[in-house]
Amino acid sequence: MSKRAKREVREERWRGLAVSEGLVVGRVLRIHAGARQVYRATIDEADIERETRRLRAAVRLARMQLLQVKARAEKELGADHAYIFDAHLLMLEDRKLLDDIESFIRVERANAEWAVKVVADRLLAVYAEIKDDYLRERGSDIEDVTQRLLFALSGGADARARQLKDDAVIVAENLLPSAVAELDFEHARAIATDAGGWTSHTAIIARGLGIPAIVGLRDLHRRARTGDMIVVDANRGEIILHPSQATLEKFQTGTTRRRDTRVASAETARAPLLTQDQIEIFLRANVELPAEFEGIRKFGARGIGLYRSEFLLTQRGTLPSEDEQCEAYKKIAALAGEDGATVRLFDLGGDKIGNSLAGAEHNPALGLRAIRYSLRHPDLLRMQSRAVLRAAAHGHLNIVLPMVADVRDVRCAKEIINEERVKLESEKVKIGAVKIGAMIEVPSAALLSPSIAREVDFFSLGTNDLVQYLLAVDRSNEDVADWFRSLHPSVLQSLRNTLDAAREAGIPAVICGEMAGTPAYAVILIGLGATDFSMTSSSIPRVRRVVAGIDVSEARDIAMQCLECETADDVEELVRSEFSARWPQLFSAETLPSPKEKK
Ligand code: PEP
Ligand code: MG
Repeated sequence: MSKRAKREVREERWRGLAVSEGLVVGRVLRIHAGARQVYRATIDEADIERETRRLRAAVRLARMQLLQVKARAEKELGADHAYIFDAHLLMLEDRKLLDDIESFIRVERANAEWAVKVVADRLLAVYAEIKDDYLRERGSDIEDVTQRLLFALSGGADARARQLKDDAVIVAENLLPSAVAELDFEHARAIATDAGGWTSHTAIIARGLGIPAIVGLRDLHRRARTGDMIVVDANRGEIILHPSQATLEKFQTGTTRRRDTRVASAETARAPLLTQDQIEIFLRANVELPAEFEGIRKFGARGIGLYRSEFLLTQRGTLPSEDEQCEAYKKIAALAGEDGATVRLFDLGGDKIGNSLAGAEHNPALGLRAIRYSLRHPDLLRMQSRAVLRAAAHGHLNIVLPMVADVRDVRCAKEIINEERVKLESEKVKIGAVKIGAMIEVPSAALLSPSIAREVDFFSLGTNDLVQYLLAVDRSNEDVADWFRSLHPSVLQSLRNTLDAAREAGIPAVICGEMAGTPAYAVILIGLGATDFSMTSSSIPRVRRVVAGIDVSEARDIAMQCLECETADDVEELVRSEFSARWPQLFSAETLPSPKEKK
């Protein structure tokens, strides 16, 4: 390895928002938005020669591609604009750089992709220190060439199948759900991102997988390099990069993985859950990725209350066909068993998966997202409806419509689903009965919940978006995390109205946002009339423990007082004092809302 690539390393610390607890010591795997993911594989001594040949072939391929791109650029843009590719070509011809990569493969017995990534990251670190703006900016050329080389190495094929090294800590600026879903999470140990909030998808997924995660770290992604040692202490919201020997010794003994600490016995987990005054409460699972399937039984979920089907797109990289979708929904139904599963129709667009599908939008959270996207692309909606209806012949499935604003959205979607039902029947295709529900997560839908309730079979209350839209606070922007107040009186009033509307119409209402999985919030929701919850399955045991220890009548008493409060601070203060007075055995200072927590 070259001398210039060596860096002085000192222990550095960051504080962020811990969104999934646990403690991990591992090595950084740095991910760029939209970039190819690279995983480390240890190769045998005997394979070093083959790996080196693979690298050389990839360099040749990348060079050829670049020459073609340059020729096209010259033709279409003129020579003035094509010179940039000369810099890229020179880099691919830089003997020193290629020697460094080859020697990394040999010395570290690493796969070529990993060697390219580590050597390029080190070079980038050198560029990042350069004072001259222009030269520093050339770092982006290195990133481009690296990506091209990685692409060539994969031969254009899908590189995702590569296994993640067991101690990988994912470090990213902002982990989009698509990137999250691409990773092999069986081996990811923790996640640390510069952006994000309590209800961002990074947080939801990390909790789902039971791996520690800290968000809102501001510039960690820029400072960390793939392969660096890192401590993720999500019990205290702290990151330590390049930990000293003393720090390492302190932490290595205490390393925990959340999922290992929360296994209840299967029988206890499956028993009906009753409050102290004998009201039955249902706890179901939210599911995104196959890696979470195992948790559904283990944590005793009563079926799947929310299947975020858009994650199907990310697992394959493209839109799954009707048959492929049908198979996926059959699997979900089989996992859920008698209790059934609710498939949420694709929540695409906006700041979610497939945001590029809707084109560049000025305000994506308010844009062509979820049911709006499906109504604008009815073929997509038709295909998904057919797949669910067919899968329902093999198990209990419901459909829920995401982000409806009023009864018109519901009627339009129902009409299309019904047309497909009729078509399938006339084609003599076997289908099953499917109930149709509405996500209540937009303020207009909460206000108009009585009319929507007359049109659907059930409600799913999406508190993540409801809080975001009611309070006009971007759920994944750490700068406004202090304004994201789940216990805001306006949120509680909207939830109460919606729960009342459901009860009056005689339909069930499932709370499926992140509030459901937070024990103190779940108690308030029970006080507002909720009996049905869906959450990350690893949250079920702790919610279960708390729910089993409370009286609904007491929860109601507190919730009614909360509704009278003027600010979120007042509600939280009330919750803290009432909960610790009534249920000191169930809540500690850390499990109650505090001015610095989850806001
Ligand atoms: C919600 O908005 O609360 C919800 C459950 O859906 P998502 O988090 O996927 O937007
Ligand atoms: Mg939502």
